[in-house]
Amino acid sequence: MDSNPKLRTENLTRVVGEKVIVAGVNLTVQAGEVMMVVGPSGSGKSSLLRLINRLDEPTAGRVYLDGRDYRELPPLALRRRVGMMMQMAYLFPGTVADNIRFGPRQRGVELPDEEIERLLSRVGLAGFGGRDVARLSGGEAQRVALARVLANEPEVILLDEPTSALDQEAKDAVEDLLQEIIREEGLTCIWVTHDLHQAARMADRVGLMEKGKLIRIGAPEEMIDA
Ligand code: ADP
Ligand code: MG
Repeated sequence: MDSNPKLRTENLTRVVGEKVIVAGVNLTVQAGEVMMVVGPSGSGKSSLLRLINRLDEPTAGRVYLDGRDYRELPPLALRRRVGMMMQMAYLFPGTVADNIRFGPRQRGVELPDEEIERLLSRVGLAGFGGRDVARLSGGEAQRVALARVLANEPEVILLDEPTSALDQEAKDAVEDLLQEIIREEGLTCIWVTHDLHQAARMADRVGLMEKGKLIRIGAPEEMIDA
């Protein structure tokens, strides 16, 4: 095993009031690895991802990116390097191109139209730049969300049930697209799902969450009965 993991959490914990929503998670993800995290609703999967991206603050524990405590990084830099896709794309009103320009603009980079078109082609939406996001299907909106993440040239992506709100056809297409892009870009990935079959299809390793704890971790064939 690589002794310099891309991402490592150490005793990562979040307590809200009396409730321990993430409980001492130790997770190591190697560069280019796809870690699928599976668990029932309410087990803390989304909360774990939010901690890793520092959308929420841990109440205990640490996160290391390339061996560096993430608190040493400015939050904007962290969120550029660690992208996140949710179950539903939070696109703001406007065009597809506006949404993709937004992230880079926050760090003073103006994406040229050709770059936007390249990103859109990458996610199967060539020519969509001028479309109003209000008119996109669920699958198209998720592709825009992915293009928006890719515009930041992330090293790690966190996927929070990115296909679970889609109909079957869009689900399959977005899953295939994600798999292709993760491979081609060599992205390190933590992908949350409640779908065991999806976990088995995508995973290098699978982690099982229950009541805020990562209770087991292993190869997909050890973790998931056929
Ligand atoms: P999952 O994504 O696995 O369905 P979540 O991470 O959304 O689970 O939630 C885990 C638990 O933490 C749930 O019991 C949820 O109600 C609780 N929870 C999530 N966010 C908060 C919060 N901000 N305040 C209090 N409880 C929360
Ligand atoms: Mg969730």
